[in-house]
Amino acid sequence: MKRPLLDASTADLSAWMTDRGHPTYRARQVVRWVFDRRAESFETMSDLPKGLRSELDAEWTVFGTEIAHQHVSPDGTDKLLLRCQDGRTIECVLMAESDRRTVCISSQVGCGMGCVFCASGLKGVERNLTTAEILEQVLRLRNLLPPNDRLTNLVVMGMGESLANLDHLIPALDRLCSPEGLNFGQRRVTISTVGLPEKMRKLAELDRQYHLAVSLHAPTPELRDLLVPINARVGLDAVMDAADAYFHRSGRQVTFEYVLLADLNDRPEHAEALGKLLSGRKAHVNLIPYNPVAGLPYQRPSGEAVRRFERIVRDRGVSVSVRKTKGREIDAACGQLRRRLQPESPRPSLVTLSPS
Ligand code: SAH
Repeated sequence: MKRPLLDASTADLSAWMTDRGHPTYRARQVVRWVFDRRAESFETMSDLPKGLRSELDAEWTVFGTEIAHQHVSPDGTDKLLLRCQDGRTIECVLMAESDRRTVCISSQVGCGMGCVFCASGLKGVERNLTTAEILEQVLRLRNLLPPNDRLTNLVVMGMGESLANLDHLIPALDRLCSPEGLNFGQRRVTISTVGLPEKMRKLAELDRQYHLAVSLHAPTPELRDLLVPINARVGLDAVMDAADAYFHRSGRQVTFEYVLLADLNDRPEHAEALGKLLSGRKAHVNLIPYNPVAGLPYQRPSGEAVRRFERIVRDRGVSVSVRKTKGREIDAACGQLRRRLQPESPRPSLVTLSPS
């Protein structure tokens, strides 16, 4: 099997060039072709000697993933289902709005966190993505943009628990943010996590400027244990302490994501409790009206319920916004396209709470 080019650093590729009697600057040239000039094959690298192009092609592949499916939505959302070299599939999305070009990428195949309302975790986690697989999602989506258009934002909010794959995620993001990569600003990258306290602290100690988003979804330990089962192991206090630590070390305000599920966590008392939990913290709340998943019993709240929730949180002095939903027609929410193309049965135990 050919080795994906992006699994190698420029230094690795330089060493490869030297071993074969080529000047080391050829390595940088190849890397520039991929990051700047959108090459997807060695054949198109027209200023490389033909012999070198075929030597490269014999051992390497520019991308290890191939496009298994491409979906375009009328609202400017493109979704790619990529097939990895081992046959597993991952999904990633490009969202184009007036002045923003945001990519949403996956960090794992499947997810082991088991949040009860999420499609990605229905079959558990299969494996971490490699650094190359993470980079390829970004580059393949970027290559869909018109020639002079650039990506402006990157969110790690696709399939998988981002911080469970820090070892591959950070090298990939660092490369994208380096001048040798896409020269992307670290502050334009958001890493979303279910809230793994130890990993959040580890990320803080790396001293990057990545924006952290914590998937809170509930203001009390009892409710969070039900919706986000990992909470029973880590504890809400530990999640909040680690978020505070991230803010203090990085100086970057943390976002708390809150998926609104009708009648489960969207009532005024939940909004009150959330406002209380976060007031006095330098935090932002991003409310996400639920995107229904076929086979799961959860529902999106009414617009009125969403606005009421937002108002209560804001009245507590907490910064809050409601996420616009894009790409619903193409199953753009986490794990949904992959699931529709490869149907699988839902997890048998579903959370149902009676209104208290
Ligand atoms: N593991 C990371 C990334 C998950 S996806 C995390 O937990 O943050 C990014 C966000 O989308 C998470 O907040 C997740 O809970 C939320 N999400 C998952 N399924 C959803 C759905 N069907 N509708 C709306 N948001 C969903």
